[in-house]
Amino acid sequence: MYPMKYKRILLKLSGEALMGNRQYGIDPERLSEYAKDIKEITELGVQVAIVIGGGNIFRGVAGAMNGMDRVQGDHMGMLATVINGLALQNALEDAGIKTRLQTAIKINEVAEPFIRRKAMSHLNKGRVVIFGGGTGNPYFTTDSAAVLRAIEIEADVILKGTRVDGIYTADPEKDTNAVKFDNISFKDVLSKGLKVMDTTAFTLSQENNLPIIVFDMNKKGNLLKVVTGENIGTKVK
Ligand code: UDP
Repeated sequence: MYPMKYKRILLKLSGEALMGNRQYGIDPERLSEYAKDIKEITELGVQVAIVIGGGNIFRGVAGAMNGMDRVQGDHMGMLATVINGLALQNALEDAGIKTRLQTAIKINEVAEPFIRRKAMSHLNKGRVVIFGGGTGNPYFTTDSAAVLRAIEIEADVILKGTRVDGIYTADPEKDTNAVKFDNISFKDVLSKGLKVMDTTAFTLSQENNLPIIVFDMNKKGNLLKVVTGENIGTKVK
């Protein structure tokens, strides 16, 4: 039995992560890989809440650049996160995990509305809770939703699953001399101008002393390593 470092986590997955190798939409194989990784940690007793992005389907900013009303576009983006949430819920349930999807915008026929106490009760019963619809407000991102929900449900940490294995001194996909940080403070992220989350999300995390771990979610077994406290990825605290 592994010692668990975290009892309750908030996992943030971007919409793009669900694309796998595709250019758009959802890759069912990627989803089922994620489901297996998530199952592994729930079976060890870790309580898992997930905030899912929508960038694989629609982003309000992109719509606005093409002349669309920004708020209208953000509503579309938030609904995109609900589509991803439903897909993820399906994959998790296929893997035998009990789940609930709660949305910040009410779609009662499809999902529960976000109710903090209910979410915490589901988590205590071992159900994975997926939060869709972002914060429910335009001009925010799902990173902000992730931090907000993490604080509300009293998660121990935010795990930001990405395709890179942490925070680097420069973009490792462009600069071969880039060096990875194992640990870094909120202050240093800001002073070095590093990009972890958008400023609103990052500041909210900092103000509430909520650590963020950025790690490569596409490598099998990494999620387990993170929750057992193995030093992979980069921890911001
Ligand atoms: N969005 C929003 N309010 C929120 C969260 C998301 O309006 O609280 C919209 C916004 O248009 C955003 C889109 O939903 O571009 C998808 O979310 P995000 O870009 O954060 O997804 P990710 O980059 O994680 O895939």
